[in-house]
Amino acid sequence: MNAFTLKRRAVVLSAVIGASSMFVAGSRGVAHAQVATPMSGNAGHYRFRVGEINATILSDGVIGGPPRVYASDAPEAELQAVLRRAFLPSDHMTLNLNTLLIETGSRRILIEAGAGSTMGPNAGRIFENLAAIGLGPADIDAVVISHTHPDHVGNLRTAEGSKAFPRAAVFLPKADWDFFVRNDPDLSYMPVPEDFRVRFGAAIKRSLEPVTKDVELYEAGSEIVPGLTTIVASGHTPGMATFLVHSGTDQLLLTADLAYHPVVNVDNPWRPGPDRDKETALASRRRIFDRAAADRIPVLGFHFPFPGLGRMLKTDGGYAWVPAGWQF
Ligand SMILES: [Zn+2]
Repeated sequence: MNAFTLKRRAVVLSAVIGASSMFVAGSRGVAHAQVATPMSGNAGHYRFRVGEINATILSDGVIGGPPRVYASDAPEAELQAVLRRAFLPSDHMTLNLNTLLIETGSRRILIEAGAGSTMGPNAGRIFENLAAIGLGPADIDAVVISHTHPDHVGNLRTAEGSKAFPRAAVFLPKADWDFFVRNDPDLSYMPVPEDFRVRFGAAIKRSLEPVTKDVELYEAGSEIVPGLTTIVASGHTPGMATFLVHSGTDQLLLTADLAYHPVVNVDNPWRPGPDRDKETALASRRRIFDRAAADRIPVLGFHFPFPGLGRMLKTDGGYAWVPAGWQF
């Protein structure tokens, strides 16, 4: 990477954090795939089964930013052409927050907490979507987190500073806890100005403060609750895990932040800017995408367009994302 690209990247990203609304605003006058004018009142949850397990995707809303952030090594002209072909805006990429509730036996386990108010005003919807299926925060027995970035842990803290899920055991990867919480992390790998790094790091510590005393730290690679196995997927962060939900012969693979948006990180092989160790992240992505494609496992992408379910297809040059049809 030469000085020019470094400088350009810093400029692009400083534009992002200059105003938090830019993380969430839609496009301005650019033709894209949003069909007609949106209205409120659409479903924010989606129910299905994995064997005996009842599963519900609960949207926490959306975040986003300039496409360049999520496709750090894409040649600019190619990136713009890909966005145009996908009817996506050239200046903004929307990322969903697809948390997953699984009900197994008598336990309710939430996978990922969502962003809450840590990354702009269009997230923090998980509680209304939980209410829509007749549940409240006190009904959650456990919250399992893939990695401690703010968009995955933001909802753990109420506005008053208490535990948002008062009865829930919170499971976090130990390597992320050591890196982001127990120490003052060196976030210089994130191509953003220093004040953004400071706020990002502080949002993690602040979100996790209410659960500090009784957090359960895990190392990926084992079944942490019946029906939910953690899979080593480090690189994006030191401890990031992905998950396999399984019951009988049915499986669902969660890809966490191996990919942000299928258009740039699955259908095209571009690397997310926030990956801390880009080579390790790439190896994790290939290993887990290969498994999903070879075994034809249904996949849930945390940041993919809601509800985020589909399958990975292996292609000549890489992979393709095939969204699942909506089921009533
Ligand atoms: Zn994320």
